[in-house]
Amino acid sequence: MNNIATNTEMVTISIDGKAIQAEKGQNLVDVAKKNGIYIPTLCYFRELNPLGTCRICTVKLNGKHTTGCTVKVDEGMEIEVNTPELLDNRRAIIEMLYAEGNHFCPSCEKSGNCDMQNHAYDMGLTVTRYPHVFSDKIVDFTPERMIMESNRCILCKRCVEEIKTAEGKDVFSFVQRGVKTRVQIDYEQEKELTEAEALHAMNICPVGAILVKGMIQEQPFGERKYDLLGKDIKASPDSCIVRNEDEKFIVATTSLAGCFGCHMSLLDIDTEILDMIDIVEFNKSPLTDIKDFSKRCHVGLIEGGCANSENVEVLREFRKRCDILVAFGECAIMGGIPAMRNFVPLEECLEEAYLNGVTTEIGANIVPSHEDIPKILNNVYPCNEVVKIDYYIPGCPPNAQHIWKVVKSILLCEDYSIAHDEFKYD
Ligand code: SF4
Ligand code: SF4
Repeated sequence: MNNIATNTEMVTISIDGKAIQAEKGQNLVDVAKKNGIYIPTLCYFRELNPLGTCRICTVKLNGKHTTGCTVKVDEGMEIEVNTPELLDNRRAIIEMLYAEGNHFCPSCEKSGNCDMQNHAYDMGLTVTRYPHVFSDKIVDFTPERMIMESNRCILCKRCVEEIKTAEGKDVFSFVQRGVKTRVQIDYEQEKELTEAEALHAMNICPVGAILVKGMIQEQPFGERKYDLLGKDIKASPDSCIVRNEDEKFIVATTSLAGCFGCHMSLLDIDTEILDMIDIVEFNKSPLTDIKDFSKRCHVGLIEGGCANSENVEVLREFRKRCDILVAFGECAIMGGIPAMRNFVPLEECLEEAYLNGVTTEIGANIVPSHEDIPKILNNVYPCNEVVKIDYYIPGCPPNAQHIWKVVKSILLCEDYSIAHDEFKYD
């Protein structure tokens, strides 16, 4: 007869005031989950000891901030998880990760399968409150099978701890210090990984920093890990538009530093354009070719970020003339493709464009400059770094139905719900 004694000790803890019985020493994140309380995590991974590097799981233990994934439950612990302060702390951490790296979701291979992106959707985050750093770390294509995009790495350490060769050798390691810290791949050891192990490395990365060549994104949009999730957005009664019933909504649009693709997408709404013209009158807009505001507008739609002094002036005028300002498309939200020049000094960009580039006219020796030409800014700025923006419609470009669904909900002050796959891109 097998007489193995079990010495499980049960303890009572409190999470957000709810008394919970758990096995002493169990991980707090798991205990909370078993009891229907969700603590978000990024670096925490079931096959690893808790790392506590990302701090998304920040909770308060007996009144002090700590990482939930490193807490082993014990008798009498008082845990706070879902207070307004902690919800904002966690959101701020995600926002900092977005601002610190180069997270251009529309062009990212991990989009739809990315844990960090999913947290952002879940928190209703469409823009970060912090200025973008526009990191300029190495993108390493040298490894035989992988690509390391350090500008997306959040230094969670999952790959360093988890991925080893059959001989137990490290494949990933941290190099350099402080803000320069990055993950480096050992090229020789990387060759030793099987295809399945290499894919495991890509999948264990909670963002799109580790990619496997040729295997980058097999699932189409709509079938990715988080595509079926969505977010319900509640209309705020305070921001409802007040107008007479027989009056149309007045909408203005503009394109700043963008490709005009968002406006083209707006025109793609097909037969719903009939719904639109039923309730909307366009004022200043490239769609109507009306150059100046002739009346106050309920909603202004902004495509593109600010790359020059004229963009800034136009955006400020829109803020003054419109009750509600909506940034639509990635260039308006975070600078988009034009902001890729933020990694390079302005002088070098101008030299490449006008003097030394492969498409430059032979013998050209002038960088255009005239008082009538808008002054180019050192960086391309997202709209919210210049004026207050009320709503954001992500996408590159956002799809037509999505734009109209959001704009209509804003105009009619309705709640709306958008599935993640509607955020995706052509
Ligand atoms: S890693 Fe995730 S958050 Fe970053 S760009 Fe890719 S999908 Fe977006
Ligand atoms: S490469 Fe990915 S798994 Fe590795 S530390 Fe960076 S974010 Fe984490």
